[in-house]
Amino acid sequence: MADPVLAAQQLVAEYDKDYGVGEIPPVPVADIAESLLMLDILEEDEIRSVPGAPTDAGPLSGLLTTANRTIWIDRREAARSPERKRFTIAHEIGHWIMHARRGEVPLFQKACAPDDIREDGASANPEREANDFANELVMPEELISALGPECGFNLALLAARFEVSVRALEIRLIRLDLLPSWMRA
Ligand SMILES: [Zn+2]
Repeated sequence: MADPVLAAQQLVAEYDKDYGVGEIPPVPVADIAESLLMLDILEEDEIRSVPGAPTDAGPLSGLLTTANRTIWIDRREAARSPERKRFTIAHEIGHWIMHARRGEVPLFQKACAPDDIREDGASANPEREANDFANELVMPEELISALGPECGFNLALLAARFEVSVRALEIRLIRLDLLPSWMRA
């Protein structure tokens, strides 16, 4: 199994080669899915109503179906937070790359509950791998370790540049051991 962080870095490099990544952040997560990987992103009022989706589990935040190369996103969650939507797309891309092996695994399908998609990575595999992948894709370590000090760790400013929530950014900085100790709660 590929290392999630490495897999995310390789994907951005691949996108850059074909499309030119331009000035990042923000990383063009949706365009990586749609242009490079040829996945559709669709918002759905009730993901459980998508044919083949599990109906016996609780509500779903995201779903990846390889048969029709689609990432399904919960519409209400997406409307509430564009940042959450980006993270969910990045998470599902992680499943596509690492677990569906870009569609090589036939009829692969992954349904993700709200609690599976977590910035703090506190989940079991394969969700943990998808979350580690998503964190590196949305907030690449190299960029965040350069821009963090440059912005004086202004979290609101940094979060806006990466198009992530302040909370997700803070968790990322702590996990990378980049947040200055005086800023820690
Ligand atoms: Zn998942």
